[in-house]
Amino acid sequence: MAGSNATTVRDLRRSNRSRALWQIFLGGPLTRQEIGTLAGLSPATVSNLVADLMAEGVIAEVGLEGSNGGRPRGLLQVNPEYGYVIGVDVGEAAFLVELFDLGLRMRARHLSATDMAVLDPANAVTHVADGIGSVIAQAGVDEQAILGVGVAVPGLVEHTNHAIVHGQSVGWDAVPVETMLRAMVDLPILVDNGAKTLGQAEMWFGAARGTDNAIIVLLGMGLGTCIISNGQVYRGATSSAGEWGHTSVVVGGRRCRCGADGCLEAYVGAAAIAARYAELSDSTSPVSPASLEGRGAAIIASAGRNQAAAQVLDEVVTYLGAGIANLVNLFNPERVVVGGWLGRALSDALLPRIREAAKIHALRLPFSGVEIVKAELGQDAVALGGATLPIARLLNAGATTAAPGRAASLDSFGASPGTLSKH
Ligand SMILES: [Zn+2]
Repeated sequence: MAGSNATTVRDLRRSNRSRALWQIFLGGPLTRQEIGTLAGLSPATVSNLVADLMAEGVIAEVGLEGSNGGRPRGLLQVNPEYGYVIGVDVGEAAFLVELFDLGLRMRARHLSATDMAVLDPANAVTHVADGIGSVIAQAGVDEQAILGVGVAVPGLVEHTNHAIVHGQSVGWDAVPVETMLRAMVDLPILVDNGAKTLGQAEMWFGAARGTDNAIIVLLGMGLGTCIISNGQVYRGATSSAGEWGHTSVVVGGRRCRCGADGCLEAYVGAAAIAARYAELSDSTSPVSPASLEGRGAAIIASAGRNQAAAQVLDEVVTYLGAGIANLVNLFNPERVVVGGWLGRALSDALLPRIREAAKIHALRLPFSGVEIVKAELGQDAVALGGATLPIARLLNAGATTAAPGRAASLDSFGASPGTLSKH
């Protein structure tokens, strides 16, 4: 019995530390009193755990809040130097690796590109491992201080005892990315879908902050979503929920990369836009994945004077609006955040028209309660989102695990903080 009591006390301590740390990380700097209120902990509990966390170097006092005549209160935040995290964006044409401190300041960056027509898993993993080695060397940090690597990939990620990637559109069939990377990198590895890591970053720091029901859409080569329902990422039975790009918008329509006909991605994805433009403008020049971003930008920029470009964008606006309306009708979000390199480019030029098209296709009541906004985080948000994976693991564990190590546990993986303070 004594043993189980000890376990209960340890679990409670860990859970209290976790609740406090989530609030400090996302809402800091905070006073002890604010931490207690937000995390639902008593002043005595907060006082003890803050003393422990400060002694361990997890949090630090960063200033004083003047209080009217009373004793000034210490402001606490997570110590940026407590550890470092690495975020990886495995794109279809480029691999971005970034190293951050716990204040999410980027300390080093490595970008490598590929012109592979088909994304080869072994080659992709080698690019990623080289990038990880490069950012650690550039930043000059001790490998022991790295809490983990979060890898964002295209495709579905199944979390069994290790992460398996099913990238039907990119030809990845049950690729054991985590195991492959572990053979080359001696750090905890966490893997998730790119739209879900982008969504987590936008929820923590960007345009989805402060809402418990949001959908973050990622538009690029493919189209994905991160569905936040009641403050949690909605994953479904095998974590594949949110594959919005492969919802049917035209029965019997254009062939999609996934093999089905009429998917949204076949009308709004970057390759589809370039192909449609080529068709309408009688251009036959092939577009490599690496140059799609430039091609997309050129089509958007020339729409005022180029009939083919204008028509392509009219079609994109209509299909994208219909696709967003489907999300609004199905999930009743408070906010839809449009992100990804293509999503940001389209939003800059066309967001009012996209809203109009969504309005036409959505039910009036859910549409009246939704904002459709552009993502706030920049081009690197998918890699930043990758970096949130080891941070979530640290916060969920209440920073009770010895900092780095090989024990990347999946039980605490990729979870979201639940109800957040709404500053
Ligand atoms: Zn499809």
